Amino acid sequence: MKKENNNNDNNKKKNGWASYLIFSIITIIIIAFISYSYFENKKEEDLAYNEFIEKINSNEIEQIKLTTGSNKLSVIYKAEGEKSGLEEKDRTEEVIVPSLQAFMEWLQDKIDSKKIDAKIIQEPVNPMLNISERLFSLLPTILLIVLMLMIFKMQGFGGDNGKVYGGEENKKTNVKFDDVAGLDEEKGELVEIVDFLKNPEAYQKMGAKIPRGILLYGKPGTGKTLIAKAIAGEAGVPFISMSGSEFIEMFAGLGASRVRKLFERAKKLAPCIIFIDEIDAIGSRRTSNSGAESENNQTLNQLLVEMDGFETNETVIVLAATNRPEMLDKALLRPGRFDRQITVPAPDLLGREEILKLHCKDKKIASDVNFKEIAGDTSGFTGAELANILNEAAIIATREKHEAITKMDIENAVRKITVGLEKQNRVISEKDKKLTAYHEAGHAVVSKFLPTQTAVKEVSIIPRGVAGGYTMYKTTEDKFYVSKTELLEKMVSLMGGRAAEKIVLNEISTGASNDIEVATGIAKDMIVVYGMSEEIGPISLKVDDPYEIQVFGEEITDKIGKQISELVENAYITAQKILTENMDILDCVAQKLLEKEKITEEEFEECFK
Ligand code: ADP
Ligand code: ZN
Repeated sequence: MKKENNNNDNNKKKNGWASYLIFSIITIIIIAFISYSYFENKKEEDLAYNEFIEKINSNEIEQIKLTTGSNKLSVIYKAEGEKSGLEEKDRTEEVIVPSLQAFMEWLQDKIDSKKIDAKIIQEPVNPMLNISERLFSLLPTILLIVLMLMIFKMQGFGGDNGKVYGGEENKKTNVKFDDVAGLDEEKGELVEIVDFLKNPEAYQKMGAKIPRGILLYGKPGTGKTLIAKAIAGEAGVPFISMSGSEFIEMFAGLGASRVRKLFERAKKLAPCIIFIDEIDAIGSRRTSNSGAESENNQTLNQLLVEMDGFETNETVIVLAATNRPEMLDKALLRPGRFDRQITVPAPDLLGREEILKLHCKDKKIASDVNFKEIAGDTSGFTGAELANILNEAAIIATREKHEAITKMDIENAVRKITVGLEKQNRVISEKDKKLTAYHEAGHAVVSKFLPTQTAVKEVSIIPRGVAGGYTMYKTTEDKFYVSKTELLEKMVSLMGGRAAEKIVLNEISTGASNDIEVATGIAKDMIVVYGMSEEIGPISLKVDDPYEIQVFGEEITDKIGKQISELVENAYITAQKILTENMDILDCVAQKLLEKEKITEEEFEECFK
């Protein structure tokens, strides 16, 4: 079972939309509520007022109390007609008049001309009541103002548009190329950019066009941000950074306005560097024109406009990072835009050693630590993961009260990062334990019979994180090319777990899901990326791309599907065959695992004697 790489890229994006939605719903509810109560009140008031006037005209009113400054009257009806025999309080009603002055003039007229005999009583003002009443009546207005302010803030009026490091205030990013370990070729390509930023005039005089955009490809943690910062640090120019996902939050049109502001700001600070992380969040292929998509399109269009709109004397270089180059809109890659692309790979053996050494500079390291060895055990790890390992090792060393970080501490940290924390006290049923033991033994034994697969270093059935157990392989060297045989055998070793479950327990479990996923991925890549299928031939084809499917036709995708399942199925059969022929070894390894829970290379090899 292998480690899982979860991708939380979309979370930010989703959060943005969720708050957008909640915000709009609240706004609509408030507006609806305010206008509803306003019009309802208005209607009722009108009705009551008209009736009230009629009652005055027909002389049914005994007394009218009024408070200065308020157009709310307290009216007492005469105890006549339908109200006869009622107490005073049951004959009292409150009436709001639209204009107190006009009403009083009219009323006084009626009384003076003896048309009615109502009494007018002036009440003193209750100041407290008045203030709270007024405040209450202002509440909707206050709410509205707060709402407007929030909207303005979110629209980016006076909001934060990218973090600036260094520049005007001369707080330069103090990251230098020396802080980026490995990646020598990539740094070599970027030295030129540093020079552009340092002496833009020299290049302009010569009529040289300064590159506008550079795209850094590579998975998270490979040092893309670090290298972009180092360029700014080396050139001594401001570094403005923003993440693609920040552009697509909240309101329609907002993303585009943020892009515009970002570039406005950069032009003021020029020469400088803009760094856009996760550019795929805005720069993914433009498709339809609906909803979220069109919001995305607007942002992307604005970005294209800004990239095209630089004057030759404006030295702003835009660096962007992505993990998914295939997602990017082709328009972004045209000349004058991101026309330079640099791949930032996960470090190789030497690179890993250098990164480890660099991150140990400020740490106490015991003399038994051999960085070459650790580098050998961490094939495929990114710079961020290596930095994380050393930090974890420092924590372990402190907890263990060691003088310095020892080899053991680092090995434990590697294990912790790879498969999660040991959960030794988790209670596992005997049945589960046996299943895991055979599953892991299956991986280990099968790979021993496959010439291209590396030797087993450690097998364990102690659960860590999500994995019930693991088989660790030795890493020898990094390879540039992988042969077809090696890929096929890798699949067989992956299927070894499931094969052992099937043969020994005649039952299969969910524990193999990750193995199957990886094996299927390899099979798919073999056919559509590396063109290794005899029947389909050496073509490259992205199966999820509807355009490519149109080009090649659905027939080919059917064929690909068949071939993928054939490859995986064959690997599964081969693994079963190896295991049935070597049942004694499988039993031996599984037995040892059940006894010790964790076995070393030597203990594993004993079963083969
Ligand atoms: P990315 O932008 O590619 O996701 P970052 O540049 O943010 O990765 O890297 C995260 C951290 O990992 C860095 O701050 C640094 O500590 C470490 N790191 C990554 N690559 C390297 C490297 N080549 N040399 C030194 N440290 C590195
Ligand atoms: Zn497995």
